[in-house]
Amino acid sequence: MSVALRVLDDGAWVSVNDERQVSVSELWRIAGTDTAGVCACDCADFVVEAFTDVGAVGQTVTADVAGQCIRCGEAAHVPGVSVGRVVDERFRPVAPDAVRSPNGGLGAPQSLPVPGSAGED
Ligand SMILES: [Zn+2]
Repeated sequence: MSVALRVLDDGAWVSVNDERQVSVSELWRIAGTDTAGVCACDCADFVVEAFTDVGAVGQTVTADVAGQCIRCGEAAHVPGVSVGRVVDERFRPVAPDAVRSPNGGLGAPQSLPVPGSAGED
C-alpha cells in the first residue's frame, strides 16, 4: 500500500498521505474490549485522547490509541483500532457511529460476534 501514515501534533491527528484525517476527542464504540483486556465492558464508549502509532492491515488503516472508557472509567491503551480504509489511494474514515474492534478488526457491526450475555441494559 503506497500510503503515508503518520501521527502528527503530539498524537492529536492521524495523517494519511499528508492530510490530517482522524482527530482525537472523538467518542468511539469499541467492541471486544473485555476480551482484549482494555476494560470490563464488552463494548466500550472510548474517548480518544491520543494516537500513539498508526499502521495498516491490508487496506484498513489502524491506530493505537490512548484514552478512557466513559462507561466504566478505565483509562486504557488500545492497539490496532480501525480508523478507516484506503480505497483507490483515497482515505475513507470509519463512520462515527460504527462499532470498531481492537487488534486490526474491521469493526463492521453486522459481523460482530454476539456474546452470550447480550441483552437489554
Ligand atoms: Zn469500559
